[in-house]
Amino acid sequence: MADRYQRFSTSPLGRTLVRKLGLPSPAPLRRHRPGDPVVAGQVLVGSAEDGRLAKIATAILTGAGAEVVTTPADDEGRFAAIVFDATGITDSAKLQDLHRFFQPMIRRLGPCGRVIVLGTPPEDCSDAAEDLLAGSSNSKAATAQYALQGFTRSLGKEVKRGATVQLVYVSPGADEGIASTLRFFVSDRSAFVSGQVVRVGVAEVAEPEDWERPLAGKTAVVTGASRGIGAAIAELLARDGASVVCLDVPAQGDELAEVANRIGGSTLQLDITALDAPARLAEHLAQRHGGVDIVVHNAGILRDKTLGKMDEQQWDSVIAVNLSAQERINDALLDGVLRQGGRIIGVSSIAGIAGNFGQTNYATSKAGVIGMVQALAPVLARTGGTINAVAPGFIETKMTASIPLFTREMGRRLSSLAQGGLPVDVAETIAWYANPGSAGVNGNVVRVCGQSLLGA
Ligand code: NAD
Repeated sequence: MADRYQRFSTSPLGRTLVRKLGLPSPAPLRRHRPGDPVVAGQVLVGSAEDGRLAKIATAILTGAGAEVVTTPADDEGRFAAIVFDATGITDSAKLQDLHRFFQPMIRRLGPCGRVIVLGTPPEDCSDAAEDLLAGSSNSKAATAQYALQGFTRSLGKEVKRGATVQLVYVSPGADEGIASTLRFFVSDRSAFVSGQVVRVGVAEVAEPEDWERPLAGKTAVVTGASRGIGAAIAELLARDGASVVCLDVPAQGDELAEVANRIGGSTLQLDITALDAPARLAEHLAQRHGGVDIVVHNAGILRDKTLGKMDEQQWDSVIAVNLSAQERINDALLDGVLRQGGRIIGVSSIAGIAGNFGQTNYATSKAGVIGMVQALAPVLARTGGTINAVAPGFIETKMTASIPLFTREMGRRLSSLAQGGLPVDVAETIAWYANPGSAGVNGNVVRVCGQSLLGA
């Protein structure tokens, strides 16, 4: 679904003007359709010396049906994806391996191509503060591994035609648990995610029996599911096999029922800020479903005003829906309703990272969601569960359609992919968090923003 400028920029006249005036040129993004392969085309896998992940990455990709090459046969041809194991880069001199490997290959990345750099989390390279003080080899490894962030974020800004670049940090001991993450980032499911740094930690991972229906037998609840991003999340979790409880305020009852009917889910009309909402939700999930596996806190509201003009109600209502209600629901569900290995997923916003004019209330609530993820990650880990958040950038919904034209155009174009994302892009990222194979993905905040320049 291309916006008007995007359609113009790909017309013969538009293409010429865009090139001459140096305007943004948004490429059509390929998105996953049921039945599509994980990745269509050759995947180049390379490694720095002594990398520990290239072998396992090759096995995962081959197992997913990809055609993996480690030494290109010729100087021609395009790669659908390039995966580079940088875990062997243990000091700054070895960063040269990045240049040596990527410089001749990057121009061969195909349209909507994927680049994934695999590293070791810097905090896992150095075990004690004394190491850093002593300038030991561990601290040099931590430095070099941190440096990968600058490389991947810059490369994300350079690659063209809808390509994306990510850095995936894998803790030592978590090597066997990266399949869901690798499959997500190498595929068209991650079309609008770029320039991200993701961490995969040690966890007991149970990979799904069927990657097309990874959530079969699971129950999910999605708040704010009657429209926009929430409806897309409900739809995708159902596509992946979950039985979805679609929750929204009673005023949205008709639209909510429509979504639930379409996806074979059920409805729960509830204002999440009501005092008894957490107890009612917990009781509903326990009685009707015997518990819940996936909780998506998507419901959110805006009440934009500069702080000097913002009344108390505008402040309170945003904090209540976007943050406090979610905390109270978590408390109620963590009391035995969220099943072992359960997943909690928050919907933050790039406004919560970068701040935004007229959004002190909203940005406070959305930064709070990130705080909630960080605070609860160790708690969830104790029962094999996870909590993560997505931070959407400009997503084409009713909400963003009402933004004044100039601001809307800025929101769309000021990103590496130079276009707005679709609700399905946020939903695909949430489906990756929910996947049983993502048990090691805990405490992450991944921006779904086409590498927006805001807060980057
Ligand atoms: P939307 O307004 O279309 O949908 C929000 C839904 O939440 C609505 O159905 C609404 O009825 C429901 N809701 C609101 N208050 C509720 C309450 N008290 N109890 C239960 N349900 C309630 O918005 P959207 O664009 O689909 O956004 C979904 C989420 O994504 C929000 O959290 C939003 O802040 C976030 N987000 C959106 C964008 C974007 O570009 N659209 C960007 C960043 C973040």
